Amino acid sequence: MKETKIKKKQKLYEGKAKIVFETDNEDLYLQEFKDDATAFNGKKKAKIKSKGAINNQVSAHLFSYLESYHVPTHFVSQFSDTSMVIKKLEMIPVEVVMRNIATGSLVKRYGVEEGMELEHPIMEFYLKDDDKNDPLINEDHVLSFGHATEEEVEVMKRYTQKINAVLKSFFYRRQLMLVDFKVEFGRAKSGKLKLGDEISPDTCRFWDIESGDKLDKDRFRQDLGKVEEAYQEVLTRVFK
Ligand code: ADP
Ligand code: UDP
Repeated sequence: MKETKIKKKQKLYEGKAKIVFETDNEDLYLQEFKDDATAFNGKKKAKIKSKGAINNQVSAHLFSYLESYHVPTHFVSQFSDTSMVIKKLEMIPVEVVMRNIATGSLVKRYGVEEGMELEHPIMEFYLKDDDKNDPLINEDHVLSFGHATEEEVEVMKRYTQKINAVLKSFFYRRQLMLVDFKVEFGRAKSGKLKLGDEISPDTCRFWDIESGDKLDKDRFRQDLGKVEEAYQEVLTRVFK
């Protein structure tokens, strides 16, 4: 484990799944993953044992892997079981969702068949605004509302497509379909965009290729049971 000598300072922000701390280095934050799980915009709540540690390790591994494919991320190093050192980003309040298989809100909104393979993967933008229930938006909203420039939108799209291609085959080799996922980007000190937040079973959907079993947060959302086991299974396969 590469070590980064930093001291944890005051809590900056506590979200639903993570806590962000300042450090004694003004360019770096500490991101701590919690066992807390929420769904339906916070209406459903529970704790999933070891989720924090699993999501930290899965995210750390996937960020490093993506870096090796020249996707810049905020990841610096692992700090503890449940936390990582990250580069401070000015976050763009947009959730970029990429879909390879139809499920979740896509099926609800458009009535397409559940489980349908999307030959042309679908990219969507959602405004990160819990009070407004994270509404679906398009590129024009992102530009018009001043959340990102045209060039930044192009870069977000390009990185998201690359993340999809790289992770799809990574998980395929581990007998998992990458059904869909959500990513967030932010501006580093240099002004360049980097991938932030996390990539984990909280933010991706994984279906076992052979059995079709769901191995992600849908087990919690839909009360399917064996939630901890599913997160643990993803961790095991990621490190295979
Ligand atoms: P939420 O706000 O959705 O409840 P989390 O519990 O995941 O989210 O909290 C993490 C917060 O930290 C999110 O708002 C996320 O956008 C933000 N964040 C992620 N990476 C960085 C970063 N590198 N720099 C600054 N903020 C970040
Ligand atoms: N997602 C997420 N955070 C959100 C909304 C969605 O990480 O606030 C992820 C979700 O886990 C899934 C993908 O984005 O992998 C697409 O989710 P969808 O729009 O189907 O939303 P849902 O019906 O799950 O609310």
